[in-house]
Amino acid sequence: MEQVRKIIQIVQGMPTSDGAGVKLKRILGGSELNQLDPFLLLDEFKNDNPDDYAAGFPDHPHRGFETLTYLVAGSFTHRDSKGHEGHLTAGSVQWMTAGRGIIHSEMPEQTDGLAWGYQLWLNLPAKLKMTEPGYQDLSPDQLPVVEKNGSRVKVLAGEYAGVRSPGRSFIPFTYLDLRLEPGATLSLPSPGNQNAFIYVIEGKVKTGPESEPSYVKSGHLGVLGEGDKVDLRPGDDKPTHLLFASAQKLNEPIVRGGPFVMNTLGELKQAFYDYQTGRLG
Ligand code: FE
Repeated sequence: MEQVRKIIQIVQGMPTSDGAGVKLKRILGGSELNQLDPFLLLDEFKNDNPDDYAAGFPDHPHRGFETLTYLVAGSFTHRDSKGHEGHLTAGSVQWMTAGRGIIHSEMPEQTDGLAWGYQLWLNLPAKLKMTEPGYQDLSPDQLPVVEKNGSRVKVLAGEYAGVRSPGRSFIPFTYLDLRLEPGATLSLPSPGNQNAFIYVIEGKVKTGPESEPSYVKSGHLGVLGEGDKVDLRPGDDKPTHLLFASAQKLNEPIVRGGPFVMNTLGELKQAFYDYQTGRLG
């Protein structure tokens, strides 16, 4: 019989700033929850005041993992050392495989209004850390949406109900934007060899077995424990909006330093050396 996953940890995230001074909330990847194999980081930026985002994220390097940026509102330009250029609009996903090394900038195109989005870092297995860098731009009309029984599921990565995101991943990985009307119930597969979490954007989510539910409020991330599937429903009579992510555990050592995530200290030192000597990107 399938086992429903229960919430085993709830984290709130910490306000911080990154890039050239963009205010954001580090939900995963900080001291509260440093990582959830293979997830290394989840940042939320949601700023109305241009002073809090206008400086953007000028040129900086990455090696050893992938970044997925999901823009909910606003517009950003991406440029990188491999010649990729992308214009992110509201509802789009930018998927960058840093692999053996890339230098990129992520700058707002807008000069006022709301800039709102999420950046998720997904680790690469040891054998793929030095893979060729890649870039995938997924425009809003390329991302499938499944609507049924009061639920609206936008497939950012992976698959839901037989519908696939065009994004290409190296490891089994599902990333969904979910909206649930009061009374709706959604059941998502999340195999036992995968780690999973929800991040509640709006409303209150009820999850876990009906006999022993947990509630996760907006602005909080819930880590899901052992099991094979995840059951989600609104926790009260209001609609909810949340992100769901599930991905295969790598079970490999993680040695991270700033923008590089490797398996050994030697590899991390090499990454800094390569960057300093112009051999990265
Ligand atoms: Fe970056």
